[in-house]
Amino acid sequence: MKVPTEKEIVYLDNNATTKVAAEVFEEMVPYLTEYWGNPSSSYRFSHQPREGVEGARDQVAALIGAQPKEIFFTSCGTESDNAAISSALRVTGRRKIVTTAVEHAAILNHAEQLSKEGVRVVYLPVDAEGRLNIADLEKAVDEETAICSVMWANNETGVLFPVEEIAEICKLKGVLFHVDAVQAAGKVSINMAGNKIDFLSLSGHKLHAPKGVGALFIRRRAKFSPHVIGGHQERGKRGGTENVASIVGFGKAAELAGSRLAEKKSRIGKMRDELESFILTTIPDCYRNGSGQDRLPNTLSVSFDGIDSESILMMLDQKGICCSSGSACTTGSLEPSHVLKAMHVPLSRAKGSIRFSFSAYNTQADVDRVREALPGIISKLRSQSPVTRVS
Ligand code: PLP
Repeated sequence: MKVPTEKEIVYLDNNATTKVAAEVFEEMVPYLTEYWGNPSSSYRFSHQPREGVEGARDQVAALIGAQPKEIFFTSCGTESDNAAISSALRVTGRRKIVTTAVEHAAILNHAEQLSKEGVRVVYLPVDAEGRLNIADLEKAVDEETAICSVMWANNETGVLFPVEEIAEICKLKGVLFHVDAVQAAGKVSINMAGNKIDFLSLSGHKLHAPKGVGALFIRRRAKFSPHVIGGHQERGKRGGTENVASIVGFGKAAELAGSRLAEKKSRIGKMRDELESFILTTIPDCYRNGSGQDRLPNTLSVSFDGIDSESILMMLDQKGICCSSGSACTTGSLEPSHVLKAMHVPLSRAKGSIRFSFSAYNTQADVDRVREALPGIISKLRSQSPVTRVS
């Protein structure tokens, strides 16, 4: 099998992971080759790694309008999500969690494990457009709730949840509130100084930093107890010697993401919109998944009725186009995504769902390649299995 090179592919799977930006890599190299000391050591050789970590803390804080002291580096978004929830159960002594049916596996698998251990988990439903009903949430969050956890942006559909409004509700009820902002950070503006969210998860590899680095925002004075990785680093909130080079890369990536926010809305949003309207107007029996309004500017989820998304992905791959069916974590499984199930998307559509997700590295030429390839692929697959189609 010939594996295509980066130059040959059209990469439209940026919600799965992103390319490490050249500027990010450049910033990281000295921390691998020259400044490799332990940032916690007291001699002068450790000064530079320590400075690198603290500089990155400032940059990540700036991206989300937080104070540097509120940023704690972790290994990934999943760890940040798990840490916030486990901590809340510990510090409150309560045994109930409120979350949504469309969270990422980083939340859902953990919640499932916790429910086996006796924690009551309430999964809030969404409507056909993927939106939450705030009245449901208001009802579910009560004095028994240890924490409410709601994602800022859905990784499959890009649908945004009104997390700042939810934070107000949780504050009034005296319940801790965590937000998984892994997909939102760097794509929409976040200002932690202007909201009441207690904890917020971030991940480096979704915004052009390397894999294996993330952060948890912990609001000043919010009660937090480290669970899995205890130790003295990160002011006792997350043990383990810091992944200095990756943290430095994350900082640079956060700075770049902040400077490109406007571009996300305009250039990237325009490319996404153009692809969406091309697909919906040119290819019969296809549908957008999720609200067209409150949505990440880079994400497009579409369903092709009656076709298996795996077949579409394989044929797109043959043309050098990388995208995914639902979330990358469920690719390979024949089960339709839990997000589309929660939205009550009919099975024949849910099974044929494809997600295109853009980054600042995509160009009009990428959109053109998809425009050239996709209609032929869909009509070929439909001609092979015409009976399964439901209009
Ligand atoms: N939360 C969301 C919404 C995600 O999309 C992802 C990754 O796809 C994660 C959490 C997990 O992040 P990480 O890969 O850094 O563990």
